[in-house]
Parts: sequence; C-alpha cells; structure tokens
Amino acid sequence: MSVYFGIKKKSYETHEDRIGNGGEGSIYTLVNNKEQVAKLYKEQYRTKNREEKLLTMIQYNLSDEQLKQVVWPQDILYDNNQFVGYIMPILKNTSSLIEVYSSSLFDLRHRILVAYNLCIAINTVHNMGQVCGDLNPLNICVNLDENDKDNLFKVTLIDTDSFHITASNRTYRCEVGLGDYLAPELQRKLKNGDNLKTIELPTYTKETDLFAVAVHIFYLLMNGCHPYACAKENNRMVSNIDQFVGTNVNQSVVAPQPIDNIGDGFFPFVEKREGITIPIYAPEFESLPLNIRKLFIRTFIEGYSEPKKRVSIDEWITALYGIVNSISRCNYNSRHYYFSHNNQCPLCEIDKNINSFFEKNDFGSSVPNNNDAVSDNTVAPDNNSNSTSESNDDQNSQEGLSLGCEIIILAIILIIMTILIYSCTQVVNAENVYDYSNAEVIKQDVNYDENVYDINIDFEENEYIEDDVNIDFEESEYKEDDVIYVVNLRL
Ligand SMILES: [Zn+2]
Repeated sequence: MSVYFGIKKKSYETHEDRIGNGGEGSIYTLVNNKEQVAKLYKEQYRTKNREEKLLTMIQYNLSDEQLKQVVWPQDILYDNNQFVGYIMPILKNTSSLIEVYSSSLFDLRHRILVAYNLCIAINTVHNMGQVCGDLNPLNICVNLDENDKDNLFKVTLIDTDSFHITASNRTYRCEVGLGDYLAPELQRKLKNGDNLKTIELPTYTKETDLFAVAVHIFYLLMNGCHPYACAKENNRMVSNIDQFVGTNVNQSVVAPQPIDNIGDGFFPFVEKREGITIPIYAPEFESLPLNIRKLFIRTFIEGYSEPKKRVSIDEWITALYGIVNSISRCNYNSRHYYFSHNNQCPLCEIDKNINSFFEKNDFGSSVPNNNDAVSDNTVAPDNNSNSTSESNDDQNSQEGLSLGCEIIILAIILIIMTILIYSCTQVVNAENVYDYSNAEVIKQDVNYDENVYDINIDFEENEYIEDDVNIDFEESEYKEDDVIYVVNLRL
C-alpha cells in the first residue's frame, strides 16, 4: 500500500493490486474509499503539462449525476510533492459502446436510449466549455447491467484526462484519435503525416465532437453500420468470376473504407456512385424518420465543409426524444423493432438479402453454419434455383470429363488435367479474394446473430426486454438547471 496526497493535502491510500493497466499508467482502488480510484502515471507521463491540465480540470465542480456521465478528475496526487496521478470516480460498469452496436441483444429502443444518453454525457462536457476530442467508442461506456435498473443504458465518458481542455491562456490538446470518428477538417490536416500533437491549432473543436456524435448515432440507429461504410455492388451479385482474377484484383473488389469516404466527402447512404452500394447489413437510409435523415444530411453533407452547420447536441436530444414512440415491433421476429413509417420490417429485409446472398453464391462447405447464423427462421428463404443448377452443372461436367478420360490417350489426359488444375487454382484464388472482400460484412452479421441465439433467452428471462414498445418517459427528468442536465431514461 502507498499513501499519496491530494492538492488540499487530503491523503489517499492505494491498494497494492491495480485494477486497470493502460499505456500511460495504472488504476488502483483505494483503502476505505469505494467511490473513487487513483490513476498513477508511468514516470515519463508525469509531466508539468499534464499536471497543469488536470489542475484546470479539477476546477470544475460536477454534480454526482454529472460524474456518472463523465469520469472527471477530482483531485491530483502527489508523492513527496512530485505529481504522480489523479483521483477520479470509480466506474463499475465498463461495457463499451461497441457492444451495443454489434449485438442483437439490444434493439432499436435500447439504442435510441443509448444515443440519447450519449448526447447528455457529451453535453455535460460542452456546457463546461470544453471539448471531448477522441470520441472513439472504447472511450464511451454504457451500463448494461440489467440489475442496475436506475442506471441501465446510461452512458459514461472515460479517459477524460485525454480530453481537449482549454484554459484561459492555453490549450491542453487531446493528442489521440481514431480515423473513423475524425471530422474531415481534421483528416485533411493530418494528411501530410502530421499528428495531433504537432499540427496547428485548432485541432479538436466542438464541431469535431458533433461529427463524431453523429457517427455514433448513425451506428446506433442503422443496425451497427458506419455512415461512411459502403460495398461494391458486384460483391452482392457475382455473375462473372473473371472480374476477380484480373491484375487489379484488390482494387476491383474492395470497397473504399469509411476513413477514405470521410476524406473524400462521400456519404454513400445519400450520394450515389457507380458500382457502389450500402453494406448488406445496413437498412436503407429511408428506413429512418424524415427529420432524422435531415439531421444526418446536415451533418455529413452540408456540415462536411461547413462544420458550423452540423447538428447540435440539443437538436439531437430533441429529435431522439421525439422518435421513441414511433417504433413498431416486427410481426415475424419479436426481436426486431423498426420505425413505424416503414411498410415492412427493414431488419427482415436485411435477413432476406443475406440469405439470398449466400444462396446465390456458393461458399462451399464452411459456409452453411454462417448462413444458418444469419438466417431468420421466420423469413421465407429466397430460393434461387439457378445457382443450385449451375453448381450441379459444374459437377456433371467434371464427372463427364472423368468418364471421357477412360477412352483418351495418356497425353491428352495429362493436358486436360493440367488445364483443370489451372482452372481450379484460378477459381480458388478468386473465391479467396471474394471471401476476403466480403469477410468484414459477413463476419459482422454472423457475430451479430450468434449473440441472439446464445444470449437472448437469458435476456428475456431477466425481463430486460419488455413487451411494451413504447419507452416510458414518465420517470425521466429532463431539465435544464444552469448547465446541468439530469436524465433518467428507463425502459
Ligand atoms: Zn423483422
């Protein structure tokens, strides 16, 4: 055990064993203090700059409710007057936002709640006049403990000592970030190999946070799809294997990644480019309510080059609040929820498309499990007799060749075998490329539904999912109290 002193000489005694370990330091629990933990930096990170940044941060006096939204530094730790770390509230439920994106355990109702609570948490930071900066999903925790009803789906921002903090006379930068969540103006600045530590200010701004928030909300409302994700149209409908064996194989089958499209200003859910479509696991953009679509267009198209046009957190809060009672439950799959203006369930459409995709494209023996996993038993399979008969034709022709070989001289057999081996190699290569090009898409969907089959039964037994479609806002307290938002949204 070690004893450290805070800025006002309060003592903190740490337990020996650390409970968390990061690149910059470790987290320790405290003796006789179950509400807070200590972060002790490694030697090289105990800098004056960091100490000053934390001194700026602890001047903000956050309420208990706000501290649930943002794990904000509470005191600074010294060992013999040497800066070593800081004190912060303990966070007991540390599930990442990614878990909500990627699991069918959480339907649209839960995801709207998470989106709402994410906005509340970020608003707490913005209302202090500060900027989060690195809003990657690993820094965003969601309480997924169904036994903790009061805080279920509440969002908490962590790693706040890396936030972009501005004091009266200087800026303490956020020096890290993930490309998929970086606003285009930042991506442009970083193009020449510069980094967030060295490029000219401004780097992170309230507007770059607004870009990242919109990305997260899109993920949540659009079945876990990034707003700038896309797919090659021919990945879905392969009709000619030759297109995969050219010299430009990678270019021909791999769609641009989200980070490329952000840099390029291409929002594939609204803008069209030849040969490019949305990922197979994404619902159509039109499946979103009109007002929500307009907000995304404002942020990703109008706000692309004019960051001030991006949708504010308050606008998102109002919009998300307004759509919670516009949700229907699917008649065919009780786990599907969708916006009521849709004539049919977009998630059933996705299941149907994925089934159809697998049936049109013979993936060989390793695929049926995946196919089962992404199938929805309540959806009639889209039988495609053509692909089956094509497959049989291939077999028949190979058998025919075998029989024919009995009456052909040895040299001709060898030539034919050589040709066959060459052809097979080409096909196998092509399929590998093809598998690879779709691996990301398929994997996401497979994992997605595996979670449903493995976990959802317990989930429902715990009454995590209620039959009532509407989210109950009666207990919610959404009020503006100076800069404090207190929100208790529950299902
Ligand atoms: Zn459905």
